[in-house]
Amino acid sequence: MSYRAPVAEYQFMFDHVVGFDEVTAHALFEDTGSEMAAAILGEAARLCEEKIAPLNRKGDLTPARLENGIVRTTPGFAEGFKAIASGGWVGMSASAEHGGMGLPMTMTTAVNEMMSSACMALQLAPLMSQGQIEALEHHASDEIKALYLPKLISGEWTGTMNLTEPQAGSDVGALTSKAEPNGDGTYSVSGQKIYITWGDHDVADNICHLVLARLPGSVSGTKGISLFLVPKFIPTEAGKAGVGNTLKVVSLEHKLGLHGSPTAVMQYEGAKGWLVGEEGGGMRAMFTMMNNARLGVGGQGIGIAEAALQQAMTYASERKQGRSLSEVGRGTIIDHADVRRMLSVMKADVFAARSIALMCAVAIDLEKATGDAAWGARAALLTPIAKTFGTETGMRVAEMGVQVHGGMGFIEETGAAQFYRDVRVTAIYEGTNGIQGMDLVARKLMDGGDAAFALLDEIAEFTESARHACPTLGSPLWEAVEALREATEWMLEQSELNARFAGAHAYLTAFARVIGGYAHLRAASAENGIGPRTKLANIYMSRLLPEHISLLAEAQVGDKDLFALSADELAGV
Ligand SMILES: Cc1cc2nc3c(=O)[nH]c(=O)nc-3n(C[C@H](O)[C@H](O)[C@H](O)COP(=O)(O)OP(=O)(O)OC[C@H]3O[C@@H](n4cnc5c(N)ncnc54)[C@H](O)[C@@H]3O)c2cc1C
Repeated sequence: MSYRAPVAEYQFMFDHVVGFDEVTAHALFEDTGSEMAAAILGEAARLCEEKIAPLNRKGDLTPARLENGIVRTTPGFAEGFKAIASGGWVGMSASAEHGGMGLPMTMTTAVNEMMSSACMALQLAPLMSQGQIEALEHHASDEIKALYLPKLISGEWTGTMNLTEPQAGSDVGALTSKAEPNGDGTYSVSGQKIYITWGDHDVADNICHLVLARLPGSVSGTKGISLFLVPKFIPTEAGKAGVGNTLKVVSLEHKLGLHGSPTAVMQYEGAKGWLVGEEGGGMRAMFTMMNNARLGVGGQGIGIAEAALQQAMTYASERKQGRSLSEVGRGTIIDHADVRRMLSVMKADVFAARSIALMCAVAIDLEKATGDAAWGARAALLTPIAKTFGTETGMRVAEMGVQVHGGMGFIEETGAAQFYRDVRVTAIYEGTNGIQGMDLVARKLMDGGDAAFALLDEIAEFTESARHACPTLGSPLWEAVEALREATEWMLEQSELNARFAGAHAYLTAFARVIGGYAHLRAASAENGIGPRTKLANIYMSRLLPEHISLLAEAQVGDKDLFALSADELAGV
């Protein structure tokens, strides 16, 4: 089935749901008005539909492979990447000073989502570069910026992030890679990094690795970690890829899905690197890249969900099986109540997850445009929610997509199974979803809940104002907001972090459910409570929003019951 980018949907959401007009009202983004946004989205849609989507299946069937120490990517990927790069899509939100387009992150979030729908394995390459560009813009020296940013933005070179080591996964502070000063301002970086996305490839001239490592005498834990830029080929004075650095690909991982994306074990053997940011400030600098990537990974989940939904809709509209009990319909399985249920909740959840990601991007843009810390706090609050809910929507929708296909969903030719396999990793990388929940209930509530309560107040206020146009939608949402407010207060009262952590995932999901309800209510209000968006919102409010009740009950259980059952008892010995 061919993918169609939902351009009109993004435009509706920009105009009526996520407040994009507030972004373009600021001088920094005033050139990206409605017409310009439509033209950019249309252009990206064409690229994704015509050039990128046809590569998706090829990536699955012909994975990247390691040949004599060099990674050869799926046939067609190099051309696909060049099309992305020459269109300027890598540097969409990068500053114009180094060749970027300086567009709002809201636009980049929409385009990244489309590209993930089309071919997530390839889209990871520009996504990694985008995160690195942002990290260098914020933390690198002027010399590094001048040399590397134009190359990364143009796509002549690509970027990677190197955190994970065999003993240091979620616990990045356990990493042991080392960096020794060379006495000339450069460093020799040594150590092994695993699971490095697009760690090596043949689609661009150079690969710029951002590597976390420890300087001699550094303190243990995350405070002793510094960040280094380690290029595969050391740039010449003229800024070309020069001699090879002392690093190599040890192997490529064999994965459940995402076969087209080369995931490498990298060995650094005294490789020449340059410090980015302060000594010991590596995590701070890397977090710039990680936050960018967390929103991007949430978008990958939504992208896969959209593609899986489109495919399931097409199949359900064509497949004849049994007689429907409903009176009107197409005479295909879309008329069966259970199939209609699946497709409806898939659609309602894609809308909710997309809204959350775009709201997060809008907050990032507004912080950049205004310097107002409240927008920064909003973006920080929404990032773990966008990542987790986006990726879990991807998994849920892809799983239902398989189910809608019946037996054909389990057969690889339809592609429904590939979505299901490919999306699974999004809940694992860029900080597992468990870690995202913990971030939400610990770090993101460290302001005493100010950012969370500000958002809940905004939703409650809107619910009140929409009471007249959408009476049946507003009441359940208002009740959910108040229940979430109480749960937030409960979280803040827990001095034992483990009590919060035991309910963190449930709390995060309930939060997402409420924001999703807000987005649906805004969409329904835009058509004055009459029309298909209102009907979809009604499905969300009656079938999905009520989940918040059990989620918030679970969120407030604490950890005692979990540890009352010992690990031995849990194992049944
Ligand atoms: C395809 C793929 C691509 C990747 N790309 C990159 C990349 O480009 N760069 C890079 O650096 N890394 C990359 N990774 C690594 C990825 O970020 C890690 O796999 C992830 O952070 C989890 O680490 P881990 O695998 O060691 O799992 P572990 O940390 O061992 O976690 C196992 C389980 O324990 C839970 N857990 C661990 N610690 C805690 C805690 N303190 N509290 C509660 N629960 C906890 C986790 O949530 C998880 O459920 C990639 C991984 C994959 C599979």
